[in-house]
Amino acid sequence: MRLVLLGAPGVGKGTQAELVSSQFKIPKISTGDLLREAVRQKTTLGIQAKDYMDRGELVADEVVIGLVQEKLSLPEAAKGFVLDGFPRTVTQADILGRWLESEHIALDHVLYVVIPSEHIVDRLSGRRSCPACQSVFHITSCPPKLEGICDRCGAELIQRNDDRRETVESRMLVYTNQTAPLIEYYKEKNILTELDGFGAVDSVHARLVNVLTQV
Ligand code: AMP
Repeated sequence: MRLVLLGAPGVGKGTQAELVSSQFKIPKISTGDLLREAVRQKTTLGIQAKDYMDRGELVADEVVIGLVQEKLSLPEAAKGFVLDGFPRTVTQADILGRWLESEHIALDHVLYVVIPSEHIVDRLSGRRSCPACQSVFHITSCPPKLEGICDRCGAELIQRNDDRRETVESRMLVYTNQTAPLIEYYKEKNILTELDGFGAVDSVHARLVNVLTQV
């Protein structure tokens, strides 16, 4: 299964990608996670990417394409993968398409995850993330058992710099201008399905699995 999760920041792509990854035993390739890891490790790439990420802007296409190709070429991605946060521009989508074609493979689904726009700011500003295992919580809708501590690995939860209210607006603008055109792009290729991402994580996941197993 080769899958892309597309949608605005905060619609729950990362959470659903994680569930798909463990249910279907395919790697989740999240460019946001890969970039945050590079920032933590202070690699050259991470140092270059940090300011863009903190401002809510996109990191250069060449940088993310390199990261994704490296992961897609690993043996564990041979049977499938779920891409989260990539592609985010038409250039990225074109390059991904060409790469897949050269490997004689194709995407099976692009799921366009949608929630009512008025909930997006709340989802992002209330989000708390685990810097160690990437688990995601929300201060009201999905709080950790112990405040500020990751249920899964015990690390201290943080608020991502780009989840602060002041940055969320620019991320939404970037999404509208640079990423939303991918909706038409994949519609034209007849592989886009809209997925209602509103509601409990389990209900959304059930709807998602329904789409994946229907075709
Ligand atoms: P995310 O965790 O997917 O919300 O990504 C966090 C940030 O990482 C984004 O706001 C961008 O700065 C950067 N980023 C993640 N994926 C991409 C991508 N495919 N292209 C460019 N920048 C990206």
